[in-house]
Order: sequence, then structure tokens, then C-alpha cells
Amino acid sequence: KMGTNVFYTLPKLPYGYKDLEPFISEAQLTLHHDKHHQAYVTGANTLLEKLDKARKENADIDMKATLKELSFNIGGHLLHSLFWANLAPQGKGGDKPEGLLANAIDKEFGSLERFKKEFTQAAASTEGSGWAALSFCLQTNRPIIMQIEKHNVNVYPMFRILMVLDVWEHAYYLDYQNLRPKFIEAFWNIVNWNEVNNRLVSLLK
Ligand code: FE
Repeated sequence: KMGTNVFYTLPKLPYGYKDLEPFISEAQLTLHHDKHHQAYVTGANTLLEKLDKARKENADIDMKATLKELSFNIGGHLLHSLFWANLAPQGKGGDKPEGLLANAIDKEFGSLERFKKEFTQAAASTEGSGWAALSFCLQTNRPIIMQIEKHNVNVYPMFRILMVLDVWEHAYYLDYQNLRPKFIEAFWNIVNWNEVNNRLVSLLK
């Protein structure tokens, strides 16, 4: 469906800022959502405005630099939007994958434990700032893990993303300092499996 906005907007969290505690603190979540995610929304909109202005004045623009920044900022906005929605307060998103998602994970990885191990390793080994993502390939019907650097490197074009985990330091530094593996371990307590399954169901419809 066509959107109605010509600029990006920061989505509201589908839960309260305290609701992911003790796995993500109120202070950490507030900073992450209100400051970091907002910065990508603002960044993307500023670049769109810059393009609008250059077109209006028929002025030259550094396309390479502009598009590189646009990819980074739109990627940041879209991945954070997915991230908030695939998290839920403990116990509210289901204990484990169900339905189509459970079948797809079992078929591809052999077990949920094996999937969690691979996803955890992808997140832990992301170089610098980035994301682990579970994506789905419609050509092979396989769920495939993506290891995204920054917000936009190593992305498989056209693959729908079912679940993401932000492993930028800004996602966990207040709560876990440099201990990314502890944050990844905490993440498994607050996955919204129902949402992840819904994304797969709507993709396969
Ligand atoms: Fe982030």
C-alpha cells in the first residue's frame, strides 16, 4: 500500500519504556529509541529535503555521498522499526516459535537450539556496529541469517527480514558495557515470536 507521508516518522514503541526490564533498562531503551533511532529518521529526512531543494533549484548535488548517507539513514530507521516490533515484554510474545516459523526453522536448521546458536554467533561476530537478522528467501523457501554491518552492508536484496537484533554498542552499553554476548543472551528472553511468525505468514500469503 502507498504511504501517506512524504517523510519518515519515528514509530511509537508497542510497549512502555520500562517493560523490557531487566533485559533492557528504561534508560537504555529511552536513549536508544528517542535519541539514536530519532537521529536516523532526522538524517533520512534531511537528505530527502536536500534532494528536493536541489531539484527545485536545478542545482548540482554529490550523488555518491548523498545516496551513501541516505542508504545508511533509511537502513537505520527501517531496522530499528523492525527491532522494536520483534521485541516484547518477557512472556508476552510467546515462549518459542510456532506455526510456519517453527516449521521453517526446524526444516532449515534442524532445531531451534541450532538456529539460536547460529544467530547468536552471527550477532556476536558482527564487526564493529551492525545487526543479526533472520531473513527469508522466496526463491529457495529458506530462512537465511544475514549479518548486517552498519545498517546497510551485506544485505541480501529483496529478502524480507523477519527478525533483527541490534548489536551496535548504543543498543547495550548502558546495561552491559562492552559485554555484547550478555546482551545477546538477554535478547532471547524478550523475542516477540508471534510477531516474527506473523511476518513470515504475511510474506507467504
Ligand atoms: Fe540501534
